[in-house]
Amino acid sequence: MSVLLNVRDLKVAYGGINAVKGIDLHVNRGELVALIGANGAGKSSTLKAIAGLLTPAGGEIQFLDHQTNRLPAYELVQLGLGLVPEGRGVFKRMTILENLQMGAFLKKDPKAIQQKLEEVFSYFPRLKERLSQLAGTLSGGEQQMVAMGRAMMAEPKLLLLDEPSMGLSPIMVETIFDVVKTLSASGMTILLVEQNARLALQMASRAYVMESGLITFSGSGQELLQDSRVRTAYLGE
Ligand code: ATP
Repeated sequence: MSVLLNVRDLKVAYGGINAVKGIDLHVNRGELVALIGANGAGKSSTLKAIAGLLTPAGGEIQFLDHQTNRLPAYELVQLGLGLVPEGRGVFKRMTILENLQMGAFLKKDPKAIQQKLEEVFSYFPRLKERLSQLAGTLSGGEQQMVAMGRAMMAEPKLLLLDEPSMGLSPIMVETIFDVVKTLSASGMTILLVEQNARLALQMASRAYVMESGLITFSGSGQELLQDSRVRTAYLGE
């Protein structure tokens, strides 16, 4: 199995606050790996460091054959990293279509862009019905669809999803997670940060549990679902 992303001894600090205190994790090609943990555990900071949105205080990040610790986010996008940020980050004053087109800014061939758009619409038919609607007027779930669609437009080799279920109704969470499962089944490699531990563990091939900046447990999704410590702390049992 080939390793797509390899993180060693990653540290992230904000001034004097050590948010991530030296963690190891990896994602193999084709895997859906979940990173779960309570509020403030350091999950988003980990993803931001991987995506090049902040510079790590220490450690190594290898994506494909590149040491990426110091690369800016746009170069990581070129290498094939797609981030769907916490809070979606859609361009609110732009239409759905414009948001999706922004995701394809590295593509020059209009035919390839159109093909990718059709693929996104096959996952999210609702977006096709509202192409000219301003993204800022969409519901949270629809904005999540736009954010995921925009990332998919760039044909990422690794998709980083930060809390896709946050603030969504149960039915919308189901819709979004069905797409995540389908993407994963179609071969997409995914690193999913999620507070909804049960949902994340049910679909993850492997998972890591983060607590206060450290990884405290790891294993297959099924192993962690059955682990009594995980059940007590994260599954409300
Ligand atoms: P959540 O689910 O609430 O987003 P998380 O596990 O993703 O939590 P992080 O957002 O990575 O956690 O936060 C880890 C720690 O770093 C927290 O103590 C948080 O307060 C702190 N932190 C995050 N961003 C900043 C920042 N920009 N400046 C200062 N401290 C920060």
